[in-house]
Amino acid sequence: MPGPCDDLAGLLEESTEDLYEHAPVAYASTLPDGRIVKVNETLLRWTGRERPDLLEGARLHDLLAPGARIYYESHYAPLLHMQGEVREIAVELVRGDGSRLPVLMSSTLVRDDDDRPRLVRTTFFDASERRRYEQELLRARADAESRARAALALGHVDDGVVLVGLTGRIEVLNPAAERILGIAAEDAVGRPAAETIEGWDLIGGRPHDAETVPVLRAGAEQWLEVAAADAGDGMVYTIRDVTGQRQLERLRTDVVAIVSHELRTPLTGVYGAAATLLARSAELDEEQRRGMLELLVEQARRLSTIVDQILLTSRLERGTISAELGEFDLTDVFADLGRTAAPGVAHRLIVDIEPGIRVRGDLDRLRQVLTNLVDNALKYSEGPVRATVEPRDLAVRILISDEGPGIPAGEQDRIFEKFYRLDPDQRAGVGGTGLGLYIARELVERMDGRIGVLRRDRGATFYVDVPLP
Ligand code: ADP
Repeated sequence: MPGPCDDLAGLLEESTEDLYEHAPVAYASTLPDGRIVKVNETLLRWTGRERPDLLEGARLHDLLAPGARIYYESHYAPLLHMQGEVREIAVELVRGDGSRLPVLMSSTLVRDDDDRPRLVRTTFFDASERRRYEQELLRARADAESRARAALALGHVDDGVVLVGLTGRIEVLNPAAERILGIAAEDAVGRPAAETIEGWDLIGGRPHDAETVPVLRAGAEQWLEVAAADAGDGMVYTIRDVTGQRQLERLRTDVVAIVSHELRTPLTGVYGAAATLLARSAELDEEQRRGMLELLVEQARRLSTIVDQILLTSRLERGTISAELGEFDLTDVFADLGRTAAPGVAHRLIVDIEPGIRVRGDLDRLRQVLTNLVDNALKYSEGPVRATVEPRDLAVRILISDEGPGIPAGEQDRIFEKFYRLDPDQRAGVGGTGLGLYIARELVERMDGRIGVLRRDRGATFYVDVPLP
């Protein structure tokens, strides 16, 4: 009766054979010329071949896919010969049905006592899992790269892009959207759009083509062109700031209104006076005729001022005006100031300037600027208008003060904008294009000077700082 040790020995013997045949690794033994002499069951199962097929003259490289076969011949076999061992080379086995199995192939060369090659033992590990994992890794990398490129593109588009998830929370907010909406992505992402983006009730909503909506942002009106698209698991909003275009459109309308109004008034005067002179010349006495002619001259002068202002504005915009800087005495600038003001008001101008103050600038341009300030002061106020100077460190400050209605605090900068008027409808009956102060500021800046309004309780005080020589 066999003892327990004999049992175990038998079991081990049998299991050695079993282990060889059914190991989770495929084995093949080949002669140095490549002919297969022994294979295990695993290899047959993996390749779907019959043992006799392989043992009757098949070579190891017959089991390999074409690319691997070339590699085997050119690298693998020579390396094996030189080193006696090659480890874990990724190749593909070709199954009987032509399909392929990725494996890791390792071989050991067995030599006889005379060091002659006798046998090659080759093992194949199933690498399909590993291949799948590698492919997933590659896919994930390609995915991450394409996401990174998409993010890069999103970072460089001019349009704001906001992705809002199904829960209403912001998921993506690109730099253009940060700029347009005035919020930082790091503060916005993850938060409800409705609580984070001002005017969301106008921006958010169902998918729609581009629509322009006015939004109040930090107290200022902003016009946004918004398009919304359904992205499946959220909405993508494309946002463009069209405030500038909107203002331009408004400005264009203002320009047409102002210019046509400003031109029409003096034209009517010129036409009326000329027609009267023509039709009723004989009935008019000398004084009446003179009055008509004065009206003609005055209105024609007003017309030419308006046309000059428009032309100068367009040249300033095109940048074709520069100042010719020189040194001169300030009193030269004030000689006949007020001459161009409406008849009978020049006497209200009081110039209180000592001779001998020298400055650096463009005499003609400075005179043009001060003429405008003085004409405005005479036009918008009834009392005296004073021109004085104040020395400063690097400049001389010229002040033009009147006792009129003054400039409200919030408007002191805006009156220097093109076509900006405090009384656009001319309810006070005083006309103007709103170009004078724009031109004045442009000219003063070209002389390296400064122009502005001082805060005063009564009347308006404009200043011009002209650099010292
Ligand atoms: P305008 O031709 O209309 O006078 P300006 O550019 O010279 O154009 O002035 C812009 C606006 O600033 C004027 O329309 C007026 O409302 C205001 N303004 C300018 N100067 C004075 C002033 N001395 N007093 C009150 N308002 C003034």
